[in-house]
Amino acid sequence: MFRFSKSLRLPAGRLMPLVLALGLWVILTPGQARCVESEGRFLLVMDAPGHSSSAWDMLKKTNWVEGVVKNLQASFSLPRSLIIHFGDGPGPRYSPERVEIGIPYAFVEEVAKLLADRNAHPDATRLQNDTLDVVEWVLYHELAHAFIDLYNLPVLGREEDAADALATLLVIRLVENGGHMALTAADLLARIAANLPHAAKTSFWSEHTLDQQRFAQVVCWVYGSDTATFAPLIASGALPQRQAWRCPDVFAVMAQGWLRLLDRHIKPA
Ligand SMILES: [Zn+2]
Repeated sequence: MFRFSKSLRLPAGRLMPLVLALGLWVILTPGQARCVESEGRFLLVMDAPGHSSSAWDMLKKTNWVEGVVKNLQASFSLPRSLIIHFGDGPGPRYSPERVEIGIPYAFVEEVAKLLADRNAHPDATRLQNDTLDVVEWVLYHELAHAFIDLYNLPVLGREEDAADALATLLVIRLVENGGHMALTAADLLARIAANLPHAAKTSFWSEHTLDQQRFAQVVCWVYGSDTATFAPLIASGALPQRQAWRCPDVFAVMAQGWLRLLDRHIKPA
């Protein structure tokens, strides 16, 4: 298990196992949210789908989401319990009224389909990993909206940009190869924004596609987090050389800003 820490030191990266199989099936108990910060919990709810669902099958097989929730539980204290709900409802979205992040199985399946469409001969394992990378980044983006609400955080600038920033910081700090995860997610979401006709953008994508500015921001944060590992971003042209020099500072300022906001909510080591 990996905890989010207050230190700005980057994780040991490749040594970390990605997901622990924990069997963390939580029964929803409404009305038990408390006011004491440390008593809030991350509650995972996964509805059994009423139809065959490749997303449900994948999530059951991998235990990925249980690992994500376990990491969050170990890292952050909450003033109220936050539900992470996979099912057939709307989303991805954070609902302040329900204190709930909703991720539809259909969204997971749509991500897998779009990733498969990009590659004529997709490797099944790679496709699954890329799908979960995108979904995890989107989950953390929604988590940022939840933190802004639950912790009553001030947000300077657009909340969507702040949510992109925390999503990227969390994957870099909590996940092996997290920078690659952020790039996979940003790349797919930017391609959708660029290629899907307006009418084809379902509610999944309306808030989650990345315009070029948001995409470039994610690329800069990832490069700035580890300039050696992500040097190929410059060679490939994804990050212009003339902008790259400032990215380590841009990432450090972003990370310090979020760490300052989250400081008293991060559980002690
Ligand atoms: Zn958002």
